[in-house]
Amino acid sequence: MTKGTPSEGKKSGKVSHIRCRRCGYPAYHRQARRCAKCGFPDAKIRKYAWQSKRLGKRLF
Ligand SMILES: [Zn+2]
Repeated sequence: MTKGTPSEGKKSGKVSHIRCRRCGYPAYHRQARRCAKCGFPDAKIRKYAWQSKRLGKRLF
């Protein structure tokens, strides 16, 4: 066994995620047309409690 995932190499040349207009992260999925980070173009911004280091506290 080698370290890492060998099949990662098949992804080369394909850009699935481009820069998101809202959060600026390269997490906007071109085919799904949705940002993996902020949920753009959803009206509500995608966020979860586990994103915060203060566990259980209110979101932002
Ligand atoms: Zn985004």
